[in-house]
Amino acid sequence: MMEPQNKIPQATAKRLPLYYRFLNNLHFQGKMRVSSKELSEAVKVDSATIRRDFSYFGALGRKGYGYNVDYLLEFFRKTLNQDKATDVALIGVGNLGTAFLHYNFTKNNNTRIVKAFDSNPDLVGKQIGEVTVKPIDELASDLTDIEAAILTVPGSVAQTITDSLVKVGIKGILNFTPARITVPADVRVHHIDLSVELQSLVYFMEHYPINKK
Ligand code: ATP
Repeated sequence: MMEPQNKIPQATAKRLPLYYRFLNNLHFQGKMRVSSKELSEAVKVDSATIRRDFSYFGALGRKGYGYNVDYLLEFFRKTLNQDKATDVALIGVGNLGTAFLHYNFTKNNNTRIVKAFDSNPDLVGKQIGEVTVKPIDELASDLTDIEAAILTVPGSVAQTITDSLVKVGIKGILNFTPARITVPADVRVHHIDLSVELQSLVYFMEHYPINKK
């Protein structure tokens, strides 16, 4: 088994969770091998890209055989740190935050939301999914051992909350607010703006229709 390298290109790294999820399903179905064509159809990435991605993992598919599912899974587990569960905090238990608390992430990967915070006294103390909502004032004292956070507060308070998160040592933020947040260089932010994504989808549907042959 090749050791996971640090130098996988970012574009490849982004596809890892996608590959991982699909291969995990295959594994549970008892499948031992998969062709790049099958993979390609399932994850919607062209097979040349898959072959190039996998070559970074030391997984060279064999003609007529494809890829060994368990080898790849073992590699992904190491690379994606799946041996170690990652605890995540959620800030803002509105509609979106509540949905995330009900969503069982552990089914597909090893991240789980273990703490949730909100400023609304009506929500504090409520159990949603597996988590009891805590008051936002306790963020600083309570978030000492968690490195990743999901931000589902209104955009107007996103930066203030981000600053508090940075202060307690959060190193990664999944930002679902429309606000562009500023963080120090050692903190990673991934931004998912659902309304922008939707608008962009509609724009592309209109202006770049897919010609099905
Ligand atoms: P969404 O669907 O975007 O989650 P929503 O309409 O349910 O939104 P928002 O007004 O976006 O509600 O607020 C999301 C959550 O963030 C609410 O539960 C709100 O109480 C909480 N919130 C607002 N301000 C703060 C704050 N300063 N600190 C912590 N939580 C906050």
